Amino acid sequence: MEKVMRNFFLFLSKNRFFTKLAKKYGLRFGAGKFVAGVSVPDAVQTIRTLNEQGLAVTIDHLGEFIDSEAEARDAADGCIAAIEAIAEYHLDSQLSLKLTSMGLDISESLVMENMRRILDAAEKNDVFVTIDMEDYERCGMTLDIFKQLKEEYDHIGTVLQSYLYRTAEDIEELDHYSPNLRLVKGAYKESAKVAFPDKKDVDDNLKKIIRIHLMNGNYTAVATHDDEMIEYTKKLVEKEGISKDQFEFQMLYGIRVERQKELVDEGYKMRVYVPYGNDWYGYFMRRLAERPANVAFVLRGVFGR
Ligand code: FAD
Repeated sequence: MEKVMRNFFLFLSKNRFFTKLAKKYGLRFGAGKFVAGVSVPDAVQTIRTLNEQGLAVTIDHLGEFIDSEAEARDAADGCIAAIEAIAEYHLDSQLSLKLTSMGLDISESLVMENMRRILDAAEKNDVFVTIDMEDYERCGMTLDIFKQLKEEYDHIGTVLQSYLYRTAEDIEELDHYSPNLRLVKGAYKESAKVAFPDKKDVDDNLKKIIRIHLMNGNYTAVATHDDEMIEYTKKLVEKEGISKDQFEFQMLYGIRVERQKELVDEGYKMRVYVPYGNDWYGYFMRRLAERPANVAFVLRGVFGR
């Protein structure tokens, strides 16, 4: 049943009609639990509150399924506004973005133009930028663009997903760039041709890539809500004498909030991924796919307790 629901919500997450409808009508159906609001001031308020609790942030100006150059340029402008707000209000926050929102499905030159604008603003304001990883179809292109940009800019990182078979090779190949990588299990619906179908293999591969990346001496963001992965990382760094400056934990806004604070209290760097903006639909559907309890939460929001 859980698998059927997961597939259902992942299917819905790709629906362009609902994506556009959602943009028009604002945050609905309990999405506010996972999305910090629709505007920069909403996001600033949320980041401030998290920073006051000792939590670092990466802010995500939500956006996917861009159809036109104008929309992609608007999305890039949104990212630049977020960077400027981070600097203006002295917030402890990085920026995350998706290349599809920068025009990846339109042309590579458009993406590069938008990314260079964003990275110039980020460099000027000392803000680190992470390129989120999307579905398998776009993984190779995303890594190629990341490598090109990494030759030009320092303050840029990306994400690898442990459910993909290719990731074990990607992590070794990327070592050449000494990159700051976020390591995750992966949030999209992928075929068994390209991704491990069994959760156990995905978990084992996440542990494997965490070990490889840390042991290669690279900065590692372990982005998971899974205590098994968190405990694995804690034990590994202790055993290998890896400094707390070389890694951090990351979780999504609104998920395992108490655990986030506990990790801060234990002296670990903990970063919260805070999405905001009116393009919330796909992100919200992927969170519902991950956990049936989230669906119950939404149903309560829609139908009352
Ligand atoms: P899961 O296997 O989903 O969950 C493991 C365990 O965690 C559960 O059994 C439970 O014990 C605990 N848990 C999970 N959720 C909850 C909850 N709501 N309440 C209580 N306990 C819970 N994916 C991408 O594909 N690309 C990205 O760029 C990307 N960026 C991400 C950035 C961040 C900061 C994070 C945290 C995730 C990101 N993801 C991304 C999503 C990721 O790939 C997973 O889909 C998502 O994190 C769920 O996997 P998990 O590691 O938390 O473990």
